Amino acid sequence: LIPVIAIDGPSASGKGTVAQRVADALGFHYLDSGAIYRLTALAAQQQGVGWQDEAGVAAVAAGLDVVFDGALILLGGMDVSEAIRSEQIGVGASVVAALPAVRAALLARQQAFAQLPGLVADGRDMGAVVFPHAPLKVFLTATAEARAERRYKQLLGRGEAADLAAITADLQARDERDRNRAVAPLQQLPDAELLETTQLGIEEAVAQVLAWWQS
Ligand code: C5P
Repeated sequence: LIPVIAIDGPSASGKGTVAQRVADALGFHYLDSGAIYRLTALAAQQQGVGWQDEAGVAAVAAGLDVVFDGALILLGGMDVSEAIRSEQIGVGASVVAALPAVRAALLARQQAFAQLPGLVADGRDMGAVVFPHAPLKVFLTATAEARAERRYKQLLGRGEAADLAAITADLQARDERDRNRAVAPLQQLPDAELLETTQLGIEEAVAQVLAWWQS
């Protein structure tokens, strides 16, 4: 059995950074499942397939030609590491993620990341659907205000234009969609540890996850 740590939570909660650092600390692999939904949205856009076209997007998802190479993400051999991080593609990801056939098409691809010595998986449904038997499940969150501010700084840091009010509205709309969808809704599972990071630094959050893992 491959050890898996499932870290789920809303957008811009910091779970990506925390999950990556926990993986580094343990020497585990890391799955950024959101990137897979973002890649699907981007690939659909490139192929002229509408984000609401369930069968069309599922076919795109099934045929994704992706290589994860450290921080580098290649789609059809092209570096899209930056392109998938735009707000527009984030919105597209949450639209395609609401389609059951798309989630089904991406399930095995995500599960294939579970390799020795272990995996830290970050997303919305890691603990509920993709790795239901994960021995440690964490629900990592922060207030909407704190998350909007984190996303805002992230965009500024990348030299992108950013508007805090627009980001807050966008984040709330995306959270709403992620929580209220019929398939794999974002939720805190009864068997997940709650990690509220509004007042926590990254190091403290990482230390808490490692402490749960080691206990
Ligand atoms: O985490 P990130 O912002 O990259 O995720 C983009 C979108 O992909 C989310 O808003 C969510 O709708 C979707 N997603 C998902 N299940 C996951 C990861 C992401 O539905 N495991």
